[in-house]
Formats: sequence, structure tokens, C-alpha cells
Amino acid sequence: MKYVSTRDNSKEYNFEQVFIKGLADDGGLYVPKSLKKFSFQELLELKNLSYNELSTEIINQFSSDFISKEELSNLVKKSYSTFREKEVVKISNVGEIKLLELFHGPTLAFKDVAMQFIGNLYEYYLNKNDKKINIVVATSGDTGAAAIDAIKGKSNLNIFVLHPNNKISSVQRKIMTTVEEKNVFNIAIDGNFDDCQNIVKQMFSDLEFSKSINMSGVNSINWVRIIVQAVYYFYSYFKLDKEIISFAVPTGNFGDVFAGYLAKQMGLPIDKLIVATNENDILHRAISKGDYVSKEVRETISPSMDIQLASNFERLIYYVNSSDSEKTAEIMKKVKQNSYQIEKNNLEIIQKDFLSESCNEQETLDIIKKNYEENNIILDPHTAIGVGAAKKLSFNDCVVLSTAHPCKFPEAIKNSINLKADLPDELMFVMDEKENYNIVDNEVEKIKQHIKERI
Ligand SMILES: *Cc1c(COP(=O)(O)O)cnc(C)c1O
Repeated sequence: MKYVSTRDNSKEYNFEQVFIKGLADDGGLYVPKSLKKFSFQELLELKNLSYNELSTEIINQFSSDFISKEELSNLVKKSYSTFREKEVVKISNVGEIKLLELFHGPTLAFKDVAMQFIGNLYEYYLNKNDKKINIVVATSGDTGAAAIDAIKGKSNLNIFVLHPNNKISSVQRKIMTTVEEKNVFNIAIDGNFDDCQNIVKQMFSDLEFSKSINMSGVNSINWVRIIVQAVYYFYSYFKLDKEIISFAVPTGNFGDVFAGYLAKQMGLPIDKLIVATNENDILHRAISKGDYVSKEVRETISPSMDIQLASNFERLIYYVNSSDSEKTAEIMKKVKQNSYQIEKNNLEIIQKDFLSESCNEQETLDIIKKNYEENNIILDPHTAIGVGAAKKLSFNDCVVLSTAHPCKFPEAIKNSINLKADLPDELMFVMDEKENYNIVDNEVEKIKQHIKERI
């Protein structure tokens, strides 16, 4: 399969470039040049596969020029052997709503699903190529933990994780900073998540720097994450045996919900994708009325969604503009100047596939409380926002992506229902272990220096 950049689709790339580089040199995101669309008959053939088999079938549509199907199948198996659920994900009920539990991996958030696979894919690549790679990633809490767990101890790989100092939950931080392997480096930035993400973007676009350290990225702009996440949309559809299905997705960087859009483009009968945001509601304003102007980031009890500019939205802009990369590049200039209003005809196209809602802090706490009292289930604050958005839009029979285990956000759970959600036994140790991280100023040159000194 060939890939192009959203900002210049005259050049072609292969899977290796897409995976290792993450971001195109022109600043655009990689997208496939064309997509496999499954017919109804072909979908039926996938219906009874195990999660691992289904993953292999879906990922193989994108990666066959990089890894054979047999080797891919082995990597998938290895990646999900670390999960507490045999079928990787699990579907449960909260009242009428179905929850797609995606948090049964080693760091208790959905990001493990893609990241465990990506860690093994790097290992596969480095076994064939004599290279050292430095992964640099910004996190609003969960990406970093998932990436560290996936990369720790692997040879010829280092990982540097930038998180906003004091702006993630203490459990989120401890899961990242108590890892002892020598190839893991945690950096706390005096700033917010968008600052961290900007620093990483600036380092990538400084080609001299990024080439000199063989820099690679695993943020949600990495196409491989998207395709691995598309699998659980297919899996839910097959498990629930419906004619058509809708999903509500707690959203930050628009990665997870874009994976649902990809599944729909590949022929999966999805009706609506509900974009659920917290008070950082740019995506809700964009999808409901075309207003894609960012405001100050606010800190909330769902920190993994405290994002204003959602990187993956660029991919949607590209598709909505009929794969016109010149137009996409122009729009991204407007986005950069923070003056983009979605054109009326494009908004209509977006609204065929997407709906949106947002929940404020009090609503989120209330949803956690109500579901605990009525359904005896503790929702993490991100999942609660998904449930809240589905309810506000009266989509009572949709599937809500449950993106994290509630014990990762003890402060919010305590404030809502005055209970302590315990960590699973195998993670209890992070509470007493010594933490390792450096606090660095919010300045790209200082971070570059910091990284250079450590490799
Ligand atoms: C990352 C994250 C999200 C947002 O996912 P995106 O792909 O960035 O939209 C939602 N919930 C949790 C718990 C997360 O860690």
C-alpha cells in the first residue's frame, strides 16, 4: 500500500516511512493513497475471528509490504499476551448503553492496545536494520505510560516522554516514572500538554536535529496507532451482531475516533461517531457549528482530553475536502493562525458521520455518581464523558469506548463518590516506588540539549 501526506499528495511513501517517521517532512500527516473497502460478504468472513486473528486481517491490509502476514500474526499474539483479558477488550453493560472496555492492558488505558503492538513492531524493524532509534513523545498522561511500557528494556531504542508538570494525575505520573529500565527518560515540562506537543513538533521539523538522533514518534498522529485501533470497532460490530452501530468516543487528539471513521471508510456499517469532549470543547464547537478556533487549555478531571488543537483532525479535513492536499495545506495555515471556520458544505459532510457533545466538570462528576448508584459501576472520568455525550444526544443503544480504568484517576473518583478505586494488584507497587523524572523549562532548545546529553 502506498501513502501520501495530507499537505502534498504528489509524493508517495511506504509503510516503513509512515511508521518510523510518523509525520511527513512537509508537516502533514500520512494517509493511505487508497483504502480497502470490505464488501458485506467479506465482512461476514471476518465475523467469527478471535481478536488476534481480526487484528492480523485488518493490520495486514496496510502493512503487507513491510511484514509478512505470518510474522504479523506472531507480533499481534505477543503484543496482547500482556493483557488481563484473553480477548483483549471486553463489552459490558451500563444500563442500556454498552461499554467497550479497552483498559485491560499493562497501563490501564486504551493506548496500550496500539502501543504494545508498536513496541514489538520497532523491535521487529530493528532486528532487520542496524540502527538506534530515539522515540520522543508528548503525553497528557496515558500515551507516555503506554509507550514506556511498550518500549522499556528493548535494545537499540530509547524513549523520552514529555509530560506537563503537575498537570496529570499522580497515578498517571507514577506509572511512568517508577520504571527503572535505562532506556526510559521522563521529562516534566513547565507548561501544558499543548506546549509539550509543540516542542515535539518543533524538534521533528528541525530536520538536522531529528535526523541526528534518529528521532521517531509514537503520538496519536502515527498512522500505525490508528489502524490498530480500528480493529476494536470491527470487533464490537461483530460481537454485538447489529445491522448498524454507533459509537461515542471520549476525544482529545481525535485519534481514537478517527480510527472509527477509518473503519467506516473500510465498509463497516457505522451510523454515527459521537465526539465527546470535556470543557476543552473545540471539537464539539467545530462539529456542531463549524467553529475551529482554540481557546486557553483548561485543566480538568479528564486530563487525557485537555487538548485544544487535535492533530488528527487534519486527516478528516483532508478526506472531507476530497483528498485535496493543496486545500488541506491552506486550511492548516488558517488553523495555525487560529482563524479556521469550517465551510458550510464541509460541515454538512462532517455531520453525516459525526455528532458531538461536551460535558463540564460537574456533569462528569454527576455521571460517575449516577452510574455508581444506579448500575454499581465506577466509570473513569473520560469514559463518563462518553456516556454523558451519548445520553445528551439520546443515543441510548450506542457503544461507548471506555478508555481508562477508574483507578488511574483516584482524585476524581473520590470527589464524586467518596470511594477509592484500587489499582489492580500487579500495579500496586507504583505507589511506593521511587520516581525518576527531570523538570525542564518550556523551551525547545533546553529540551534538545537535555536529550542530547542522555543518548
Ligand atoms: C488519550 C485518551 C483519550 C483521548 O484519545 P484521543 O485518541 O487523543 O482522542 C481519551 N481517554 C483516555 C483515558 C485517554 O488516555
